[in-house]
Amino acid sequence: MRMVLLGAPGSGKGTQADLLKDKYLCAHISTGDIFRRNLKDKTELGVKAGEFMNRGELVPDEIVIGMVKDRLREPDASSGFLMDGFPRTIPQAEAFDAMLDELGTPLDAIILLDIDEEILVKRLTNRRTCRACGKIWNLLSMKTENKTVCSDCGGELYQRDDDAELVIRNRLKVYHDQTSPLVSWYAKTGKLYTIEASASPDETLKKIQAALG
Ligand SMILES: [Zn+2]
Repeated sequence: MRMVLLGAPGSGKGTQADLLKDKYLCAHISTGDIFRRNLKDKTELGVKAGEFMNRGELVPDEIVIGMVKDRLREPDASSGFLMDGFPRTIPQAEAFDAMLDELGTPLDAIILLDIDEEILVKRLTNRRTCRACGKIWNLLSMKTENKTVCSDCGGELYQRDDDAELVIRNRLKVYHDQTSPLVSWYAKTGKLYTIEASASPDETLKKIQAALG
């Protein structure tokens, strides 16, 4: 199975990526991981990307695409893959299509995790981080009486600046502006599956499996 996973911050994309990877025995390819590895190993593309990042500039599409192409040639991707964080733009999606054509491995599905924005905001603004161990909790799902301390280590819980409502609304706006054109573009392929993802991770997984047939 060759899939692209799309979803807003807080939509449970990471959780679904883990579940899908195990279910369909495919490689979970996240652009974050690819970047970190290329930078660490100082590959040619990694060094080039680093130069742009050091200047505070966006890494050009051709470098990102080159890294994805190298990653797809690794053995674990031959049985299928799950793309997470790529493509982000239409030019990237076009280049990705051309790359898959060349490899003779077209996409089977594009999965869009769809959740009402108010639910996302509620979920994200209820996140708290432990000052001592760094674990992330959610006030909505914590099972203890005292929700000001970490149930694992007793450390103090606090709200990160990233999880403040205004910051979250802004991140969601950026996500929608960036992703809407991509969603319309993929809709034309007939392989886009929009999955309502506000229920539990297991229920969302079931919906995805039903859609994929
Ligand atoms: Zn803790």
